[in-house]
Amino acid sequence: MTVSAIEFSRLGPPKLRLYAMRCGSCNTLQPWWEKFHCYACGAERLTEEELAGTGELTNYTVVYYPPRDFLGQEPYVVGHITMDEGVVLPAPVVDTALEDVQLGTRVKATLRRMKLGHEGDVYYSQKFVLDTPGAEA
Ligand SMILES: [Zn+2]
Repeated sequence: MTVSAIEFSRLGPPKLRLYAMRCGSCNTLQPWWEKFHCYACGAERLTEEELAGTGELTNYTVVYYPPRDFLGQEPYVVGHITMDEGVVLPAPVVDTALEDVQLGTRVKATLRRMKLGHEGDVYYSQKFVLDTPGAEA
């Protein structure tokens, strides 16, 4: 989820938890943007379910030529993270040397500044950092 700085200050970090949608009919867990329809069975009873925030990098790419909103952050890693709950989320992986990123790398969610909006407003979103035992995010 991405929110502006205004929303961020209004909601505060506790409201910006990482969640996914659980289908009330078939119990499938799906990404948070599938708010209204279950992609597995088409049911419309989805409820938010908080995620622990840890997972494994199952696919990734390094971005050298970012879209305008992300200029200045390159090169950066965008990955598909398979959360421990089973749902797959796309997200940037930050604070790491590119050579330390591999398939199967354990990662955990952290809230970071995501991008600058077109009017200089700052957006925040979930990014992932390496989940190194003993290290603090
Ligand atoms: Zn379903």
